Amino acid sequence: MNICISSFSPRAALAISVICTSVASTTVFAENDESAQAANQPFDSFSQVIVPMAFRNGETHLRVLDNINGVAIAEGDIIFGDAEQYFYHTKQRSVRGLSNYVYGTVWPNGVVPYRISDQLSASAVAKVNAAIERWNDTGAITLIERTDATAAAYPNYIDFIDANQCASWVGFQNTGAQSIYTGDKCSEGSMIHEIGHALGLLHEHTRPDRDNYVQINWDSITTDKTHNFDILTDAITLGEYDYSSIMHYGTHFFSADGRETITALQNTDAKIGQREFISEGDEQSVIELYQSDLSIVSAAPGSAVAAADMQLDMFITNNSDMGANRVSLRTSVPEESKLVSFSSSSWICQQAGTGEDVVCQTSVLAKNANSSVSMNLTTPASTGQASFTATLDSSTFDTDQSNNTDRSNTTLVATSNDVPTNEKAAAQPQPAFAAATDQAATSGGSSGGGAFGPLGLLLLICRRKLV
Ligand SMILES: [Zn+2]
Repeated sequence: MNICISSFSPRAALAISVICTSVASTTVFAENDESAQAANQPFDSFSQVIVPMAFRNGETHLRVLDNINGVAIAEGDIIFGDAEQYFYHTKQRSVRGLSNYVYGTVWPNGVVPYRISDQLSASAVAKVNAAIERWNDTGAITLIERTDATAAAYPNYIDFIDANQCASWVGFQNTGAQSIYTGDKCSEGSMIHEIGHALGLLHEHTRPDRDNYVQINWDSITTDKTHNFDILTDAITLGEYDYSSIMHYGTHFFSADGRETITALQNTDAKIGQREFISEGDEQSVIELYQSDLSIVSAAPGSAVAAADMQLDMFITNNSDMGANRVSLRTSVPEESKLVSFSSSSWICQQAGTGEDVVCQTSVLAKNANSSVSMNLTTPASTGQASFTATLDSSTFDTDQSNNTDRSNTTLVATSNDVPTNEKAAAQPQPAFAAATDQAATSGGSSGGGAFGPLGLLLLICRRKLV
């Protein structure tokens, strides 16, 4: 569906050098609550900086940043950094090469730690939490609270701080705390919008293809605010243009005369500029940004002696540059099979009862990672064929689900003369890694060792839907 995202990511960094001048202006802030938008209330701001952006295609475009309460901001709510820094260098006239600003990348593994300032009012905290829950409900990413106990594990995080405006950086900054400005002026919908920025989304109306979908009424835009309607020529589009996107400007943003500044060119029932819900296009866009490719190869023993233990090996790979989070591996086993023990460096397995599916989970499977699980199961007393079906699932969208399920079979034999062998494993293309064996636990599965830890347990709630 929708969304204009930054051209960020390692494969598309924007290099920006700051030059230029400051001009007097009155700033109108677009991404506040609806009353502020309607009233076009000015903020304490007096100047702008013009920033030439050097794009990958060799073009350079000027971009105007407003000084809003000391912060350099584009399009009303996209944070570029400390305005003082820009203005200092402007005065010195030695600004070229001041910074190599880049939009952020995506959050590693789709896990987005956050902290909520205790300076916020209870109602503001409630709105932030509600917005976080809405994004987590999509399953596209995982916002997880950063606590003292997890601070070391999460050096980079979103910091929801009290401010006189609602604003956010775009994408993962890799700078430790990165602020999202919030406070009593910011609605729940605005918080959803700002989190959208932090995940990597830009404003829908700045898409390179927007002129096919909306008309910008330049004459109605407040003086010195037309830059907020510039097309970001180097931006990447995800899906179709989405009038319903929560990242879309409202039709009257920055209006000088009360008329529309943005008019839809196509028939739509959408409320343009809504700040109520994550549209389907918004969700699909984030899914597309944070997608991985998991695969499973399972290897049951070629034969097993009835009523003895047998070993089932699983090799799980993430073939993507995006780590997957809240990964689950569900394996169906014969009716009489019980999980005796398992061995893995990163997975924890459980079985509700004999014959039930064995469910193994890990909080994160990092990009391009190989992992394995080895299970010991009791063998049914009967003879014949026993089959196992292993299926991977994840909170992170999987681009290729055809390799997420693997089946293997075992011949159950009656006598101990037939020693179980791992024939299928021998026949399989061998994964380029060794099975990890540094953790072993029983089917009670609560050892919690290795890299998993108590934090991982929090992430075991696997409510992912695979689209
Ligand atoms: Zn915005």
